[in-house]
Amino acid sequence: MSRDLTLDDFMAGLVKRNPGELEFHQAVREVAHDIIPFVLDNPKYQQAGIIRRITEPDRIIIFRVVWEDDSGRVRVNRGYRVQFNNAIGPYKGGLRFHPSVNLSILKFLGFEQVFKNSLTTLPLGAGKGGSDFNPKGKSNREIMRFCQSFMTELANHIGPNIDVPAGDIGVGAQEISFMFGQYKRINREFSGILTGKAMEFGGSRIRTEATGYGCAFFMEHMLNQRGDSIRGKRCIISGSGNVAVFCAEKVTQLGGTVLTLSDSSGFIYDPDGISPEKLAWVKDLKFRRRGRIEDYTNHFSGATFYPGNRPWNVTADLAFPCATQNELNDIDAKDLCSNGCIAVAEGANMPSTIDAIRLFHQHGVLFGPGKAANAGGVAVSGLEMSQNSMRLTWSADEMEQKLEAIMGSIHSECVQYGSDSDPINYVKGANIAGFIKVAEAMLAYGVV
Ligand code: NDP
Repeated sequence: MSRDLTLDDFMAGLVKRNPGELEFHQAVREVAHDIIPFVLDNPKYQQAGIIRRITEPDRIIIFRVVWEDDSGRVRVNRGYRVQFNNAIGPYKGGLRFHPSVNLSILKFLGFEQVFKNSLTTLPLGAGKGGSDFNPKGKSNREIMRFCQSFMTELANHIGPNIDVPAGDIGVGAQEISFMFGQYKRINREFSGILTGKAMEFGGSRIRTEATGYGCAFFMEHMLNQRGDSIRGKRCIISGSGNVAVFCAEKVTQLGGTVLTLSDSSGFIYDPDGISPEKLAWVKDLKFRRRGRIEDYTNHFSGATFYPGNRPWNVTADLAFPCATQNELNDIDAKDLCSNGCIAVAEGANMPSTIDAIRLFHQHGVLFGPGKAANAGGVAVSGLEMSQNSMRLTWSADEMEQKLEAIMGSIHSECVQYGSDSDPINYVKGANIAGFIKVAEAMLAYGVV
């Protein structure tokens, strides 16, 4: 890599090697923007070709998943596991079941995971996987048959010291249970090969809540750094899945008022705030009845449903995008800035576009990127692995304290490398802090 390598030169090569993978290009560009100047200032990384190596997955496994639906029809989906980097620990990262899943999305998620897992301070490598299978509208038996078929192949590639997947969009406690049961049956072995398990068979307390809670903690740290806090703030949240709902729960516990939630059909706005009682109803709607968020307005007067829209033009102090990638663009960012939003913490992975992030920085809005703000989920997954290895279970209080401490230390790492600008550049801080640990390990291994 020459001394005068530019971001555009590097990206041109990456795009050529990975044609058409737009989400992957976007994720790498965002990181390379901060890492290239750092590497040019630190020739040891440059000489060892670390940027080129860290953007190339260790391996990618793609496989056919065949299953039978309830009418006896044979269905075929595609399964993936991207084992991105195991320099600092076994591959670790979620499985996503959604019709939009493709290699570009999984490579972007796996790449982000490298930095996120490094930031957690735990020994976790990075991976991501899933399938274009759509669990929506499927019966429980169909989901079971799909999960069993998916795991029959995936089982060849994972293990407690090799690769330990978890959940993500479309993969919750039920899917994890079906897959864990199938692994156990095939290998005749009870071991911690998945996280997000139920408490009865090796799960961890607070794992379900961890990503959302961690995101709220990260926001609290960003505000505390400025002598402020979540208390009394109006908050808008997108999504109504695992991350969104528990982010809403912790934000409320910290004294904020949550005004919105959403799903892929639109968003609900409740000017009175989504109280703990209303949130309990949403949990039942989403996790048990698998219903639509629109139904909220049939139960709680004063709330409005906005079909096909996202919540970003609602006036609020704090925003938490917790649904999916690229759900907040430059137009949304302009709305947020002009409505007085002071901070954004990403519960989802890469929900804000590069242009939106640029606008937040220009307007002095505190911006916590997903790789830092949503790392609580994988951190507690790491602690689930520790508990499995030690064959013990920590209490909910202990787990929440550990989660809070980890989010505090991630925040400090970001501040350490991102405080040369005002406000603190958490994107740069997270990218550089996450990079150093993995790059040092890769250097130590020599040319591999
Ligand atoms: P869930 O499947 O539980 O919920 C996803 C939510 O996002 C649902 O409300 C869903 O609506 C909505 N959504 C999905 N796709 C779209 C879309 N294209 N447009 C609008 N809304 C959409 O997933 P999670 O809560 O687990 O994950 C949410 C995000 O958080 C993802 O980016 C994930 O990668 C990230 N994340 C998750 C972690 C975890 O521990 N679960 C850890 C770290 C990051 P609908 O029901 O209509 O599809």
